[in-house]
Amino acid sequence: TEANTGAPTIFDKIISKEIPSDIIYEDERVLAFRDINPQAPVHVLLIPKLRDGLTELGKAEARHEDILGHLMHVSKIVAEKEGIVDGFRVVINSGPTACQSVYHLHLHVLGGRQLKWPPG
Ligand code: 5GP
Repeated sequence: TEANTGAPTIFDKIISKEIPSDIIYEDERVLAFRDINPQAPVHVLLIPKLRDGLTELGKAEARHEDILGHLMHVSKIVAEKEGIVDGFRVVINSGPTACQSVYHLHLHVLGGRQLKWPPG
């Protein structure tokens, strides 16, 4: 767990491919790769390549609307690629109370099993 200081995170090294990851989608703006500690048969993390102050969703500003919209759309493309588009969940943990551990905004795309609600 890192504090939200704006310091580089492990995701910078994943973006630069200094640390290997199982990439399932990539374009100029975003990267999607499998979570190292999956909570479901499909558990993909989807991140903006440029953090631009988006350490957490709670720091979003108007200038982030385009990338936030793109991330939402790509979450569906990821679900389609993974064969779970008929039932999947997108989660963003924002801040310590929500158990965020990496302070570079990321969407969790989860599926491949019956998901419970509420998540706890
Ligand atoms: P958060 O708790 O911040 O919402 O989610 C961070 C996620 O990043 C966790 O699910 C954790 O398993 C994942 N994670 C942390 N370090 C790495 C890593 O080095 N590689 C990959 N693929 N996932 C990571």
